[in-house]
Amino acid sequence: MKLEAFPLEFQGAMPILRKLQNAGYEAYYVGGSVRDILLNKPIHDVDIATSAFPAEVKELFHRTIDVGIDHGTVMVLTKEATYEVTTFRTESTYQDYRRPDHVEFVRSLKEDLKRRDFTINALAVGIDGTVIDLFDGLEDLRNKVLRAVGNPYERFHEDALRMMRALRFVSHLGFTLEPDTFEAIQEYHSLLAKISVERINVEFVKLMMGSFREAGLRSFVESECYIYCPGLRDYGEALLNFAELRGPAIPTERQAWTLLMTMLNMEAKDIRHFMKEWKCSNQLIREVTEMVPALNFRLEHEWDNWTLYQLGRELALSVEYLLYYFDREPNLPKVRLLYQYLPINSLKDLELKGNEVMEHFDYPRGPWISKTLSTLEKEVVEGRLENSKEALLDFAQDFLEKERL
Ligand code: ATP
Ligand code: MG
Repeated sequence: MKLEAFPLEFQGAMPILRKLQNAGYEAYYVGGSVRDILLNKPIHDVDIATSAFPAEVKELFHRTIDVGIDHGTVMVLTKEATYEVTTFRTESTYQDYRRPDHVEFVRSLKEDLKRRDFTINALAVGIDGTVIDLFDGLEDLRNKVLRAVGNPYERFHEDALRMMRALRFVSHLGFTLEPDTFEAIQEYHSLLAKISVERINVEFVKLMMGSFREAGLRSFVESECYIYCPGLRDYGEALLNFAELRGPAIPTERQAWTLLMTMLNMEAKDIRHFMKEWKCSNQLIREVTEMVPALNFRLEHEWDNWTLYQLGRELALSVEYLLYYFDREPNLPKVRLLYQYLPINSLKDLELKGNEVMEHFDYPRGPWISKTLSTLEKEVVEGRLENSKEALLDFAQDFLEKERL
């Protein structure tokens, strides 16, 4: 088979492949971008594989960066873009189930393709457009089948992360797992315990965000892989409920975690603990702990000023969008308008500042200042108090007398 036309991304990398070939080396487009082109999907990164060793690649190109030289990857910079050029390699004896003991550079494309995870990821394209298909990846692409290259038991035993990759490809591509490949995942699911959480996290997030989330999550549960992922052991049933939510592919990571936490019925403190175990960033954890209660609120009520104000515009829009998954119609323009018409958007917009409160009342410094300000803030946001210095001072006077602060 031959590609009829090269996509722009491949054309941009063409001079690099040509140069390698002219110097007597082999060079091919490989990996996910080849798969995605054949599926007519947009591609993100163009990976190039070559028989040239890293030092030889660096000699040929003026501008390179060593990004993973131990693994044979050199980044080649052109005026328009950067490309990863990786030397053909084999990976031998995986003692800890996660990292090859050592990588060996080889001159044979076949050896390189053999170590790849799935047949659809083991295709290569030469500069004349010929597709090199040593493991019947094209047929699997046509039949929408995800099949390990070689013996699936050996391949998952070598690198258990491949099991999570398989599930996320199911979720993204809507392919079915070839029966032996699925059985091997069922058999070896517990090896996931040996994989670093950071690497599982990347695949799990992609799994949650695929267009075929239902199939992906179902296989995740049926293969029992979820049991060896942080904090999920007792949530098989809830994960299936999450799988069944109707709706488009989840657009962002924070929305994915928010839906997951909602379906797992987690409260704020459990969310923090759970997401820490998953090694999520503090910012993401902060966002999700705000979004989950807001979503629960929104499922029962219309937005109110205070909830909207506390959440902020972006997170509120993110939450509103999630109504899709609960058979409700989100109204994003309305959220934008409601937010725009909030009396203030932050404490900075209040017409009375902390130092002014202090000067005006002339009491000793203390918590009364912030307590007064937050009361004013809430009154203004909720529309009960006008945001003018005079009104705010009057209100503060009454408040302080009443509270005896
Ligand atoms: P994506 O579109 O998400 O980038 P991808 O298939 O390109 O998917 P990458 O992680 O970018 O995934 O890897 C590039 C290629 O490297 C894969 O297509 C596959 O051939 C190979 N590969 C990646 N990870 C593994 C692995 N754990 N075991 C074997 N081969 C792998
Ligand atoms: Mg890729």
